[in-house]
Amino acid sequence: MIGFGFDVHRLAEGESLVLGGVTIPSPLGTVAHSDGDVIFHALVDALLGALALGDIGEHFPDSDPRWKGAPSSVFVEHAVSLIAQHNCTIVNIDCTLVLESPKILAVKFEMRQNIARLCSIPVERVAVKATTSERVGFVGRSEGVQAYVICEVQPR
Ligand code: MG
Repeated sequence: MIGFGFDVHRLAEGESLVLGGVTIPSPLGTVAHSDGDVIFHALVDALLGALALGDIGEHFPDSDPRWKGAPSSVFVEHAVSLIAQHNCTIVNIDCTLVLESPKILAVKFEMRQNIARLCSIPVERVAVKATTSERVGFVGRSEGVQAYVICEVQPR
C-alpha cells in the first residue's frame, strides 16, 4: 500500500527550524504548536494514509496542550506503532522538502538516519530530497516551508 503526506508551516523570525528531526541554524523557523517539523508531519500522514488510519490532526489535535512544543518524533513513533499493530512493515520512504533557504545538503544524511531509526528500516530505504521554489510563491518568499512524503507499507 502506498501512502502520501503533505504539510506546510509558516516561517517567522525567532522560531526554531527543525526538519527531519534536525535543528538547523536559521534566522527563520516554523510557527507551530509542536516543533513544526514539516517532514515528520508529512511522514506521519503518509504512514497513516497507507493504511487509511486518518490524519495527524485527528491523532494529535493542536488544541491538545500535551503536544505544545512536542518533538514531532513522538507523532512518527505513534504512526509507526499503528503500522506494526496492523501487522505491516514499512518498505521505503521518499521525502521532498521545499524550502528557499538555508541549504540542507549538510544535514540530509542525518535526517535520513533519524527517519530510518524511527521507522526501523535501513537508511538506504529512506530518501530525503530538497528543492527551492525558485523565489516564486510563499515558499519562494521564505514565508513558509513545505514537505511531501510518500511511503510503501506491506503486510508482514
Ligand atoms: Mg504540521
